[in-house]
Amino acid sequence: MKFAIVNGNRTEAAKSIKGICPSCGSELIAKCGEFKINHWAHKGTRTCDPWWEPETEWHRSWKNNYPNEWQEVSLTDENTGEKHIADIRTAHNLVIEFQHSHIDPEERATREKFYRDMVWIVDGTRLKRDYPRFLKGKKDFRKTDKQGVYLVDFPDEIFPANWIQSSVPVIFDFKGLETIDDINDARHYLYCLFNKRVGRYAILAEIPRKAFINNSIDGNWLLRVQNFNDLIRLKQEQQKYIVLQQEQQSRLSKVKYRQRRGPLIDYIDKKQFSNQFKPKRNGRR
Ligand SMILES: [Zn+2]
Repeated sequence: MKFAIVNGNRTEAAKSIKGICPSCGSELIAKCGEFKINHWAHKGTRTCDPWWEPETEWHRSWKNNYPNEWQEVSLTDENTGEKHIADIRTAHNLVIEFQHSHIDPEERATREKFYRDMVWIVDGTRLKRDYPRFLKGKKDFRKTDKQGVYLVDFPDEIFPANWIQSSVPVIFDFKGLETIDDINDARHYLYCLFNKRVGRYAILAEIPRKAFINNSIDGNWLLRVQNFNDLIRLKQEQQKYIVLQQEQQSRLSKVKYRQRRGPLIDYIDKKQFSNQFKPKRNGRR
């Protein structure tokens, strides 16, 4: 963890100081080595939060975009007493979780239920295959009338499978800590996979990094997601209506066809029938 309580204050780890865990109140040891970032650790190998993952530089650099008091916030479920430490909890109650390690879909779903208004930031550099796969799929993104928003036909072929069914927005960060000079490199953007679908399509937004950070700080992120979800719901309803109309149209045309065809055939048949058996005239009258 980045913070422990030392003399009543949230304090970063430094050599030979002791602190208290802000979540469980047990003693923490400052770990300040050469290879890992400075952090606080519970005694032994266990932490009080089973959801906690060892922090990387990537976690830290993301956390540092936010005020200290929003970082590592201990949250308790009022009904069950269950406690977890959110990576970021903003003043507008948005939880941001930075995920580097693999996570099972069940655990992912449990965390989403616990934090509710949340967004995941996923380290897209952990597996080498993830970014090339994304780039390949990017060619087939379908543009929408909203700039930077795309429809994605087969999200499971573009993103890691465990994130596809998420019930909250998932943002992929393929840049990580890399310095990229090419300003046109796609990794300068964050890619947000939304949890709603329009027909068979998933919805993806390309978001400038700075815009996401600013929007999550000033509270506009939740508002934007809400507006976006409303828009998607509208599109879904429009699409249902179009499908319904098409079905009705085809049903109507079938009825018309039958109506026209039926009497006409009857008429022809009767005519042919009656002509066939008409007695032939013989000679003059
Ligand atoms: Zn603890």
